[in-house]
Amino acid sequence: MLPVYGCQCIACERARENPVYSLGKTSAYISDQGWNLLIDANAEDLLRRFPAGSIDSIVLTHYHMDHVQSLFDLRWGLNLSIPVFGPDDPVGCDDLFKHPGILDFKAARQPFEHFYWRDIRITPVPLIHSKPCLGYVFEYRGKRIAYLTDTVDLPEKVKQWFEGNLM
Ligand SMILES: [Zn+2]
Ligand SMILES: [Zn+2]
Repeated sequence: MLPVYGCQCIACERARENPVYSLGKTSAYISDQGWNLLIDANAEDLLRRFPAGSIDSIVLTHYHMDHVQSLFDLRWGLNLSIPVFGPDDPVGCDDLFKHPGILDFKAARQPFEHFYWRDIRITPVPLIHSKPCLGYVFEYRGKRIAYLTDTVDLPEKVKQWFEGNLM
């Protein structure tokens, strides 16, 4: 988040003066013929943007509140079941695991063990953060995008994996 509350560094002051430079929470989604895969769930208007039936599944980078806050509203939906995949974090966030509602928390994703969503190959990579955290590499028809958030640099084995796997 920029500006950081109370911070007076150049970047934060600039963001305070001009909202163009401010940064909000980060999340993303992939859409394929009406099916949506959410990557984290923190948009304030998430329930309106993705009406019932349009969320196919959710992958989480980690269980910090600023990445999963929309799940607390989403979970009390009706007549749906939404698969949620994330890193191996037995604690999760608050009482999400205890009261999942319509969220179907699946077994944790393991680093470097790829899986598929539709025709997209997704490989989780471990990141460096204060909570178990995964980045995801999406590959589709020869194109690759890496979604890496909240990490301090990259673990050596991830750098090596990129060097070995990316063109
Ligand atoms: Zn600052
Ligand atoms: Zn975080």
